[in-house]
Formats: sequence, C-alpha cells, structure tokens
Amino acid sequence: MVVKVNEEECTGCESCIDSCPIEAIEMKDGIAIIKDNCNSCNACIEACPEEAIEEIEKEAEAEAIDFSQFTDVWVFAEQRGGELKRVAYQLLGGGRALADALGQKLGAMLLGENVKELAKELIAHGADKVYAADDPKLKNYQTDAYAAVICGMIKEHKPNIVIYGATHIGRDLAPRIAQRMDLGLTADCTELTIEPDEKILLQTRPAFGGNIMATIITPNHRPQMATVRPGIMKELDPDSSRKGDVIDFTVKLSDDEIKTKILEIVKEAKKRVNLEEANIIVSGGRGVGSKDGFKVIQELATVLEGEVGGSRVAVEKGWIEQDHQVGQTGKTVRPSLYIACGISGSIQHRAGMQNSDIIVAINKDPDATIFKICHYGIVGDLHEVVPLLVEEFKKIKE
Ligand SMILES: Cc1cc2nc3c(=O)[nH]c(=O)nc-3n(C[C@H](O)[C@H](O)[C@H](O)COP(=O)(O)OP(=O)(O)OC[C@H]3O[C@@H](n4cnc5c(N)ncnc54)[C@H](O)[C@@H]3O)c2cc1C
Repeated sequence: MVVKVNEEECTGCESCIDSCPIEAIEMKDGIAIIKDNCNSCNACIEACPEEAIEEIEKEAEAEAIDFSQFTDVWVFAEQRGGELKRVAYQLLGGGRALADALGQKLGAMLLGENVKELAKELIAHGADKVYAADDPKLKNYQTDAYAAVICGMIKEHKPNIVIYGATHIGRDLAPRIAQRMDLGLTADCTELTIEPDEKILLQTRPAFGGNIMATIITPNHRPQMATVRPGIMKELDPDSSRKGDVIDFTVKLSDDEIKTKILEIVKEAKKRVNLEEANIIVSGGRGVGSKDGFKVIQELATVLEGEVGGSRVAVEKGWIEQDHQVGQTGKTVRPSLYIACGISGSIQHRAGMQNSDIIVAINKDPDATIFKICHYGIVGDLHEVVPLLVEEFKKIKE
C-alpha cells in the first residue's frame, strides 16, 4: 500500500505535515508531497480536513498511470565546459534506433550555461527535439540542480524512455532521478532494444558477476530509464541539414534546493586516461610478460598518438593501472583501431572492444580466440613484432 495525495483536492493547509511523526511530508508549490520515508502509518489521512490523502495499492498506483501519455525517447546530452561528450552522440545513435522502432521522436536534454548553440550538433547527430535548460546555476554539474531540472523536464513533457551514459555523471544523476520520481533504472546496459509486440524497452546487462546476461523490463512505470556504457552505442554520421526543434526549459531553482556549493575546481594532477574517447588503442595482456614489457606497448601507442589499454590480467599483475582496463569490468571502447598484443580474446575482454572499427591482433598462438574476431592478425612474439611496427610507423611519420 502507498499513501497518495490527491493534488486537485489538497488546499496546502499543512495539517498533514504537523500530523506526520517521521517528517515524511513536505510542501511543494502549495501541495503536500509524500516522501519516500513514509511508513504508511496513515496519521496524515486522519489529519487531512479535505480528505485529500488516501492509501492505495501499489499496483493500483501503477495502473492509474496512463502510459499513452508518455511518448518519445530521450537522451541526456552530457557536456562539460561547453563541449559535448562523445557518449552524448553515441546515445543519440542508439536512441535514434529505439525511437524509429517505436515511431516516436528522439529528444536530447541539454543542461548548462551558454550551451544552447550545442543544440545544432545534437540535431545533426539525430535529435528531433532538444530540451535546453540554459542557466548560470547549471554551469557546472551539481547533482541536486541537474536532478531537479531533469525531474521538471520529465514531469512536463512525459518521455517514454530516458537514457543516460554510464559515466561518472550519468551514474550519479540517473539514480537520483529514479528515486525522486519513483521510477526504475537499469544501470550499465550493454544492449537496449524494443520488444516488437508490447513496444516496451528491453534492457540487457551482465548479471551474477558477468556470468549471464539479464534482460530487464519496466512494466509499471514511465519513463523507462537506463544507463548505457560509453562505447556501446554507435554515433551516427552528422547531417547538418537535419531540422529539429529547440524547446527552452525555464530553470526555477531556489538556493535551498542546491545543497552543495562548488568552492574550487582542481584539475587532477595525474593525466587521466580517456580510453572511451580514444581513436587508437594499443592494449597488452598476459603475453606482455612484465611491467617493463609494457614500455614497447606504450611506444607503439605514442607513435600512433593513441592510448594504452590492458586486459584484466595485465591490471591484476600490476603492469598497468586499473583505469586502462578494457572489458566487461573495465572500459567499453570503440576506437577506429584497436591493437591487441598478447591478449587471448576472452569473452570478458571482447565485451569491451569488439565494436572497434579495425582490430589487429598480435599473438604467438595461431589458435588464440582473438584471431576469430580480428580484421588483421599477426602470429608471432609481440616483443619482436611490436618494435618492428614502432620502427616502421616512425619512418612513415618522418
Ligand atoms: C566476471 C569477470 C569479469 C572479467 N572482466 C574482464 C575485463 O574487464 N577485461 C579483461 O581483459 N578480462 C576480464 N576478465 C578476465 C578474463 O576472463 C580473462 O582471464 C582475461 O581477459 C585474460 O587476459 P589475457 O588475454 O591478457 O591473458 P590470457 O588469456 O592468459 O592470454 C594471454 C595470451 O598472450 C599470448 N602470448 C603469450 N606470450 C606472448 C608473446 N610473447 N607474444 C604474443 N602473444 C603472447 C598467449 O598465446 C595468450 O593467447 C573477467 C573475468 C571474469 C570472470
């Protein structure tokens, strides 16, 4: 059972607030809102002079929602410093396929300060509508502010599906929205599709430590929400002739809604590896043999102006740091070129790199699984092959 306020009958008298022994009711825009810590003691039901509060079955609450009001697929267009993250384009690519399968529009939520110009790029990459919240209070990402604005957008426009990148920001933001709006959320999806008969979102992600893939649905709530790892979805080629609508969203944020204050932004001293955005990745596995052995992998990455990746074994052995790990429990990458050196090609490693445009494998075992998925394979000792490649690429560059 859940306690619900009938918004049309609530007069905002606040009698319920005084009656609640656990402070589970608050006022918003003159209407009483029951918070999640409500334990259904029903004291407020008795206290309400308007009989505007009732207890209903949880299922009845779900049934009361008219799903036909919820249309369109939305993506959260993550930007930092006025620059869209690659994941935003990838979500638009994946979101476009979902919207087309449903015959609905694709929307992008764009939040920030002086970011409206980015709407053109979002439209060129597949969005039909851009919901733009452009306000100084949204200059830097802050959980409370962004969550409040997105909840407002969702309440006003009622999307059917909302997807976020499973980035640091997306992983922080999406659960807040799910909690505030009493929605479901499937985190870290590796596939999103539309079920052809019921037209619901099928949200697939690894479960039980990656040993099975689970497909999750959200039957009782709308919007259906998921986070998707960067690199899973493929961005579309931009088409600057595409037309779309930009819908301004007025930001109404009171200071007490934002509980955190940014005092200073300190850049990390250590250069963070950005595998998800890298165009070329040279990865090493157990075959590299030692921390010292990674020097040659680094050299090849440097000459190709790429990044260094590694298998989980290479990380566990301490040859390379964890943020370089590619795979199911590491990063999902989609570079133009992925060179796998001394990596066997386990399913968990492949899960993170198999969508790369070109895969080159160097392995001394001709039967290694990696040769089944690579575009070019070199059978040989990486300690002989990689230095030769470095030499050749240096010559070409000169
Ligand atoms: C739940 C779970 C999650 C996991 N997540 C990840 C993940 O995110 N990423 C990941 O990578 N793994 C992950 N793993 C581990 C995964 O199962 C494999 O153990 C791992 O990917 C193997 O790494 P590897 O290819 O470096 O080593 P190996 O499988 O041992 O392969 C080494 C390869 O190097 C070749 N080789 C050896 N010497 C040379 C040489 N001198 N020159 C050329 N080739 C050489 C060998 O022929 C062999 O093919 C996960 C496992 C589980 C259970």
